[in-house]
Amino acid sequence: MANFSARFHNIDGDDSYSLDEVIYRSPVNGNLLEVRHDRTALAERSPEEWKALFAARRGSFKPADMSGIWSKREMVLPEIPEEDIVTLQEGWSPLFDASALAKELHLKKLQVKLCGNSHTGSFKDLGMTVLVSQVNHMIKKGIPIDAVACASTGDTSAALSAFCAKAGIPSIVFLPAGKISTAQLIQPISNGSIVLALDTDFDGCMQIVQEVTQDNRIYLANSMNSLRIEGQKTISVEICQQLGWNVPDTIIIPGGNLGNVSALAKGFDDCLAMGLITKKPRIVVAQAENANPFYLAYQRHFDRLVPVKAKKTLASAIQIGNPVSYPKAKKAIEDYNGIVVEVSEQELADAAHRADRTGLYCCPHTGVALGALEKLRADNTITEDEEVVVISTAHGLKFTEFKVGYHENKLEGISSRYANPIFKAAPDIGEVRDILSREMKARRR
Ligand SMILES: *Cc1c(COP(=O)(O)O)cnc(C)c1O
Repeated sequence: MANFSARFHNIDGDDSYSLDEVIYRSPVNGNLLEVRHDRTALAERSPEEWKALFAARRGSFKPADMSGIWSKREMVLPEIPEEDIVTLQEGWSPLFDASALAKELHLKKLQVKLCGNSHTGSFKDLGMTVLVSQVNHMIKKGIPIDAVACASTGDTSAALSAFCAKAGIPSIVFLPAGKISTAQLIQPISNGSIVLALDTDFDGCMQIVQEVTQDNRIYLANSMNSLRIEGQKTISVEICQQLGWNVPDTIIIPGGNLGNVSALAKGFDDCLAMGLITKKPRIVVAQAENANPFYLAYQRHFDRLVPVKAKKTLASAIQIGNPVSYPKAKKAIEDYNGIVVEVSEQELADAAHRADRTGLYCCPHTGVALGALEKLRADNTITEDEEVVVISTAHGLKFTEFKVGYHENKLEGISSRYANPIFKAAPDIGEVRDILSREMKARRR
């Protein structure tokens, strides 16, 4: 990979830095950084050569090739030695053909990218493999880093903790007490992180971790660190590859801190620059009404971000009022003919469980994206002839409280339209037959 290189670059300025520096924002003007690649070098290979290389790696059992991220390593971290890569075979997630749901919604094609089918059960693995690999590389080079830390709404901490445990690097996670699922909480505990539950929300945890990581020996793992974006952006490359290098008309993604939508756009930017695709999709960001600062800014034509106090939402991983990646996400919406939609608690809960009836198993954030799809179909913003991809960000298995609560009709303020109750019965054949005949009749199509 000798020809390829990348550096941290100010998103809106000329300053740039080595990827081996411990740096998260531009010291010149405080802007976010992004990883910029030598696109001239990448363009020296033809699109056909890249496609052939990526296809060949799909058939390889080499550790780096088996990762969806590292199989695109020239576009991700071109200068890292392969032996420094920390991978849990992330990526290559299924593109679920949601044909039954598409039919219900009168849509030509609907596919759901199941990013939660991954080691720790969310898309956060895609970015974390890159960040922890780079830290591993820096430690091996003798750069003094004692631990990696993050603030999290649950999934980031699970991913950080797993990759660090694999690499033998200490990790520290700050969680908002009582605001994440049991499955999410137990992951970093199991993987041996230093776990701090703070009596605040995500935005409060974010402030603390930024203070803690003023000390350069504690490396910051939040998506403000643009290394994460480089891993997450491969989702776009992977979707195009899975579609035979075609591009869907519209992609819907749930947004909280807005790193993931920034990554999605950057992935398409790269594909376009390398000639892998020639068309742009439209990008839709879906937010929960209870945590909607991006939606509100969009409504005001992106005059500026006004942070909000995020209210409690079932979509707990996006309960964020002051999204760090706002400038990048704004650009993503502007560049990709985008829209921002907000979805109520009732809508997200119903959308998730309606989709489950067609074979999916949706987390509440995926429910937010599916709820947005329903709205955009209802007012025909998304038309019948479109091919749509919905990004499912986590596995439903991480959100059992949400799913049980829904089916038992016990979620506060929600009336569960798609609840599927359990029938309690005596072990009596007559009683059983009565229930079966009634219920089978009700479900006959
Ligand atoms: C982190 C996360 C999101 C939001 O991603 P951002 O990059 O913060 O916008 C959505 N869904 C799940 C399940 C997540 O863990």
